Amino acid sequence: MTFEVGKWRIDPKRAFVFIYAWPDNWLTADLAAWVTRRFEGRWGTFVVQDQLCARNSVMHTAMQSSPELYDAFVFVDNDVRPTADSDAAFCLDADICACETDHHGDGAWRWPNAFHDSFWWTTRTALAKIEQPYFTPPVYNVGYTARTGCLCETFRSKALSAGLTIAHGGHAAHDQKRTWA
Ligand SMILES: [Zn+2]
Repeated sequence: MTFEVGKWRIDPKRAFVFIYAWPDNWLTADLAAWVTRRFEGRWGTFVVQDQLCARNSVMHTAMQSSPELYDAFVFVDNDVRPTADSDAAFCLDADICACETDHHGDGAWRWPNAFHDSFWWTTRTALAKIEQPYFTPPVYNVGYTARTGCLCETFRSKALSAGLTIAHGGHAAHDQKRTWA
């Protein structure tokens, strides 16, 4: 797998990768190799059961890290499998950039500023413009028999309200058999 960091919009030496690894801190050798090749030791796994709490607590941790060390953050679920096309997501020009993971349902990436949270990156500067909590409970229908929007949508709307731009590109496989499916 080849990649050219020169085209990236973040410096991987000043970025930290957070890997969501509930419930068992499991990580594929492929994902470990992929992240190590690009970010060396600047990554860690995080095990939080509740998806909403996991998203918010990890992002809170990111913002508490030293600005002298990190100015960009990557968030990825442990069942995402990067492909040769995944690096294109790091060349996107927006405040919040999502890699297009395989996702339940057609049209998940239909809109130019669609966002899903299984594999994405942003900068400290962008996150600082969003008032916490970053993610809030997803919306359900009246009978609570189905979600009318995914959890990602709650963060997406807050980001757009804060004036941030969103883009998506590249591609990664997503097994959706671990973390929160
Ligand atoms: Zn989503």
